[in-house]
Amino acid sequence: MMNLAALVHSLRCSLLHIESRLLQVAGLEQQLAPVLAVNGPSLLPQVDHDEQLDEQQSQEQPPGLLDGILWMAAPKKRRTIEVNRTRRRADSKLLKVKTNIEPCPECGHLKQKHILCGFCYAKVCKETSLIRQQIQAIEGGPLRAPTVETVVLYEGETPNQQDKDKRIVERARKRPAWFGH
Ligand SMILES: [Zn+2]
Repeated sequence: MMNLAALVHSLRCSLLHIESRLLQVAGLEQQLAPVLAVNGPSLLPQVDHDEQLDEQQSQEQPPGLLDGILWMAAPKKRRTIEVNRTRRRADSKLLKVKTNIEPCPECGHLKQKHILCGFCYAKVCKETSLIRQQIQAIEGGPLRAPTVETVVLYEGETPNQQDKDKRIVERARKRPAWFGH
């Protein structure tokens, strides 16, 4: 009667035989390595224990398909939903409540302290782009800017002594309180 170890050994031998035959038929008997796996024996040092046994086995059996695979680490136990939720809802992952919010002294919208008010900034941006359009209309095209500085004057403003030699762009409105000199 054949014992279990001998049965397993003969099954393995026959499977390896079939595998090598299939590889020969497919013409792939050389250098067939899995695409997504690291080829272990070329990178890792060989284990030296039971050298004789290994040599005997390697003489007896051709190397199998899965022998060169270095298996990657994978979780062995599933984490429960309670554990996952506790991790996801930890204090460090929750949104922080901001306490540095105050109304803008100019327009009254809420803004963060020490940060420019977005609404006021948009107003200044719009006025600046209007001034740029006016300057572009005066110049009539690119690369025609004069070599002197430009001063923007609003209604009811007169140029200073130091602004006399500069180009003056007049805006047909009163100077807004939020638009500085
Ligand atoms: Zn504001």
